[in-house]
Amino acid sequence: MTSAGRFAPSPSGELHVGNLRTAILAWLFARSTGRKFLLRVEDLDRARAGAEAEQLRDLEAVGVTWDGDVVRQTARGPLYARAISRLAAAGLTYECFCTRREVQEAPSAPHAPQGAYPGTCRNLDSAELEFKRSTRPAAIRLRADVAEYTVHDVLHGAYAGLVDDFVLRRNDGVTAYNLAVVVDDAEQGIDQVVRGDDLLPSTPRQAFLASLLNIPIPEYAHVPLVVNADGVRLAKRDGAVTLRDLAKAGNSAATVRDRLLESLGLPAGPLEKAAEAFEPAALPREPWAWSAMRPSGS
Ligand code: GLU
Repeated sequence: MTSAGRFAPSPSGELHVGNLRTAILAWLFARSTGRKFLLRVEDLDRARAGAEAEQLRDLEAVGVTWDGDVVRQTARGPLYARAISRLAAAGLTYECFCTRREVQEAPSAPHAPQGAYPGTCRNLDSAELEFKRSTRPAAIRLRADVAEYTVHDVLHGAYAGLVDDFVLRRNDGVTAYNLAVVVDDAEQGIDQVVRGDDLLPSTPRQAFLASLLNIPIPEYAHVPLVVNADGVRLAKRDGAVTLRDLAKAGNSAATVRDRLLESLGLPAGPLEKAAEAFEPAALPREPWAWSAMRPSGS
């Protein structure tokens, strides 16, 4: 199988400059190592009509090109179901009937790390199971036999993080992100995962799941986020932060791309040129604060 990197946006709205910077980084990591670059639309949840087209348009406008067809998660249900069946057959899943509130309010299990599922439904006997099944639909959780797992990240080094009995399929039947991402990356031949460092805490769960499915664990690079003037992760409400808004103020996509490249210490211009100068070790490790652009980037 070919090796590839990817960008995997959730089509919940327009991309902002923080998302575009991450996409550019993912592209640079992949292209500078001779990998293919794939685009996967993570539309299992939070999809807004029209957002995918806007996102693809904006990626192309800053020079992020991809190989082959765009893959959409909603078309891949059977792949996810197969992976869950394999885990179930190995005794690695159980049904969970807890509401979000019940999980939050449950006393945590002794020695369980903060934020871990307390295990309420882990060992239900058949009578309890039968009763709970009559009350509401079940989610499927992983029966994890570790509490922590260590991943290696190109920018963060060794990172140990929580692995609990996380949800694989929600009780509304929707495949959970942590399962879908692992199955998709493996099935698409993705061996390099570059994304925002807000997702680093989810990575031990994903790598552990990959190990259970005998899937090779990809190379990870979690890149610093773009933040607003208060140091908080950038959001649409922070003003003109989408290409559309910035264009209205007279800034072309190329100007925005150049500003993002400069924030990474890379030469302005086409991404191909930046790829020649790209060196992961030289990347800034701190979040980058976005400040308003003046018309035409002046
Ligand atoms: N779809 C996720 C997001 O937009 C990214 C998932 C990933 O890169 O693994 O936040």
